[in-house]
Amino acid sequence: MEKKKYLILTFGCQMNVHESEKLAGILEKNGYEVCTNATQADVVVFNTCAIRENAEQKIYGNIGELKNIKVAKPDMIIAVGGCMSQQNNYANEIMSKFPYVDIVFGTHNLADFEALLKKKIETGKRISSITEDETIALRDSLQIARTSGTNAWVNIMYGCNNFCTYCIVPYVRGREVSRPEKDILREVEALLKEGYKQITLLGQNVNSYRGKDEEGNEISFDKLLADIDKFDYKFRLRFMTSHPKDLSSEVIDVIAKSKHICHGIHLPIQCGSDKILASMNRKYTTEKYLKLIDEIKTKIPDVELTTDIIVGFPGETDEDFEGTLDIMRKVEYMQIFGFIYSKRKGTVAEKMADHIETKVKKDRLSRLLEVKNEIINRKTQEMLGKTYEVLVESFDEKTNTLYCSLDSGKTITVKGTKNCIGEFVDVKVTSVRKSVIYGEIVNTEDIANFKEKNFKYPIEVSILPKDQKGLKLLRENKKNQKAVNDLKSKK
Ligand code: SF4
Repeated sequence: MEKKKYLILTFGCQMNVHESEKLAGILEKNGYEVCTNATQADVVVFNTCAIRENAEQKIYGNIGELKNIKVAKPDMIIAVGGCMSQQNNYANEIMSKFPYVDIVFGTHNLADFEALLKKKIETGKRISSITEDETIALRDSLQIARTSGTNAWVNIMYGCNNFCTYCIVPYVRGREVSRPEKDILREVEALLKEGYKQITLLGQNVNSYRGKDEEGNEISFDKLLADIDKFDYKFRLRFMTSHPKDLSSEVIDVIAKSKHICHGIHLPIQCGSDKILASMNRKYTTEKYLKLIDEIKTKIPDVELTTDIIVGFPGETDEDFEGTLDIMRKVEYMQIFGFIYSKRKGTVAEKMADHIETKVKKDRLSRLLEVKNEIINRKTQEMLGKTYEVLVESFDEKTNTLYCSLDSGKTITVKGTKNCIGEFVDVKVTSVRKSVIYGEIVNTEDIANFKEKNFKYPIEVSILPKDQKGLKLLRENKKNQKAVNDLKSKK
């Protein structure tokens, strides 16, 4: 008998990508297999994001795109979970706006998805289940269908206590809860045995990890990193996301001495004005941030720093914004993710005075991108002729191109063969064009010994890390009216 099919559309951050892997695990355990088109799917799950208002509109648009298919295929189950569903009253809104949505569930009861799906199949009734009761321990025991290639995500903690005034996360993901160290070590070791080459520890603020060891002693983030670093495999260890107020000297020391931890640190500054940082409730000043950067650069001279920046926060003046550009130039980041501030319902910043005009915000973002490009172009030019150890992450068969990642997460493109995927190779940078870095493998004699590995990739398969991809996929479905008509004629 043909297996039933599922499709998961993921919006938002890496945390959601990994939670979609858990949802995929539940579906696969229940006999479903992945498909790439909603017209084939028996279950479609939207794993939603609430970080920006336009993300919400995109998700609503995407759910709307499924209406036609649901009419043609009424047994298809549509579920909506994640941060958007968890927000106050959103579950009711989704249920009333989209009468063809069958299940709504929140971030806290992801582990209940199996039971909710069974109940829907048995009773045929629509279900909305949002809970504040944290079933996090259950979530950690779920089977995970990993689809992130050579990388495996590992949650070390959930929730956030920081309440940055622009952010909805503490309201939809609750307070911080750290996993016991032994559970994390067990999961990491199993992944390394399976052959994963990169482990990325996940948490909203990993630096405030406070787990317990088997004797009940408190374990801080530096100790956890040091313990994972002891594993005797060839692998790379990353973590995200760091909060500058909590990144300790001990963590920097562990990174500096480690064998496996990437010398790439993502440290969101968000803004270069002390007035705005206070208004964002970030609890550090530019002076403290720059001191931390100095310490990092002194202890880890080859560090590659990356950051997030919000432009146009309420009350941001031209002078405040110049402060942000100034920090960018001082730190010389290897990558900068710039965002325009957007109001989030339910946050403190939503009610602040002096919201900035859209045009001003857009102009500031363009200016930020100009400065970012100047910095990154200069930094990438400095890489010419140097050799780096990189992880080969993927391969394009048409052009025999390998895509490899540096410690900073930036990509280097080289020619090579498929058996290199999942291997660490030394690459010499040979040219840089428009910030795309090209290189060649130096240790070519090793290549013949590499065995082909079978990593599962997310791209165009089950879990779509970029919301645009989700939208594109559904648009393709809409265009694919023939498939919908065929379904209707089968009815
Ligand atoms: S640290 Fe701030 S920005 Fe990050 S999740 Fe917590 S509240 Fe949001």
